[in-house]
Amino acid sequence: MSGLKPPEKDGLEAVHIHRAPWIFSGIGPAVADGAVVVANGRILASGPFRHLKTFYGGASVRVWDHEGAALVPGAVNAHTHLDFSLLCPPKPLKPPGFFRWVSGMFEAKKQLTPSRRREAQDVGRAHAWQAGTLCLANVINPPLDRVLKVSGLPHEYQFVELLGFHCRHLQEVFSGEEVAHTAFVSLAAHSLYATSWNLVVQAKAWCRSRGLPFSIHVAEHLPEVHFVRHGTGACRLLLESLGRWDATWRPLGASSVRTLQVLGVLDSRTLMVHMVHVNDEDWDRVARSGAAVCFCPRSNLWIQGRMPNIEAALKRGIPCGLGTDSRASNEDLNLFREAATVLEAEPSIDPAAVLRMATLGGARALGLASSIGHLGPGASTPFLAVSIGGSFSVESDLAEAIIHQAAQERLAWVGTGTAD
Ligand SMILES: [Zn+2]
Repeated sequence: MSGLKPPEKDGLEAVHIHRAPWIFSGIGPAVADGAVVVANGRILASGPFRHLKTFYGGASVRVWDHEGAALVPGAVNAHTHLDFSLLCPPKPLKPPGFFRWVSGMFEAKKQLTPSRRREAQDVGRAHAWQAGTLCLANVINPPLDRVLKVSGLPHEYQFVELLGFHCRHLQEVFSGEEVAHTAFVSLAAHSLYATSWNLVVQAKAWCRSRGLPFSIHVAEHLPEVHFVRHGTGACRLLLESLGRWDATWRPLGASSVRTLQVLGVLDSRTLMVHMVHVNDEDWDRVARSGAAVCFCPRSNLWIQGRMPNIEAALKRGIPCGLGTDSRASNEDLNLFREAATVLEAEPSIDPAAVLRMATLGGARALGLASSIGHLGPGASTPFLAVSIGGSFSVESDLAEAIIHQAAQERLAWVGTGTAD
């Protein structure tokens, strides 16, 4: 049981005890016949109902029974691009390969007027919320005026993404003024093939000096891996065709991960997205650096038909979250379907670890774990009641049921009102 701190009562504050057959708090073992105690939009404690009822019981306490449900933290989607939420990839999903996909993306971007971007972002947020997402990290491209919005979901992180392999200085692509007074905004570099390495280093320094997370797509596909190591191949042809090639640039002859390490970019506030083509040596480098990883398995399966090696990261204790990436490469923004895909493709991974990736893992990767991603003391409401039915004797079976039921949106938000 965690918590057992008396509420700071001012005589008016109502205490609510939410009881359910199971509590999956994310920070300890699942608890049968458990409860989550809430006051004033904050969780005071979670644990066995009988203990919490004794400790917090009283005339002013209201008990809510969530029969047939598990209480679970809301999902944290650690990587998406809401601008593309109005796109609809063709079904059935078939890997188009990276360059056919990127050509389609250029076409899609041309249609993105400011009003269309705002509409797409609102639609994406609404879908994510309906699918049990409490927090998302939204990657957004300049120009930001008229599209930057930070009051979407209860928690939202905006990563302003920098593009330009031909650019040398941060000021060429980002003034900083647009985000100077906005909370939960940080920088991302697109990748080592679409953003110049000068920009990558400067953007990371900008984030580091402010204590903010930095995000970058890494080792997503083989053309990237080849380009970063050798400076040739399809990525170079693409840059030349776009007029963004820098003839003075030279590769280091190393992998994407090793290159980021040499550039001084890897530390505990760097979030590496995708990580599909990574060998053991590079996984060891990531583990030593403390950097976090966001896996987007459905996007990887759709674009290139390949899963990242999630087990390699988990067994090294690397902080891992999950992301849907955008609807340019995914059917929807339901993070629990991302988790269900991991269960299906990697049955040897403990479902409880997958559920933690979808919640606490993403919160840790974004530096928000003090208030979201778990049901421990200090976490904020709301959280989820996922209909599970049936009975469970081990945590992994429970976690698997939670993921599958939440993936089908058999869930309800708890604690969205001011009363509870
Ligand atoms: Zn992305």
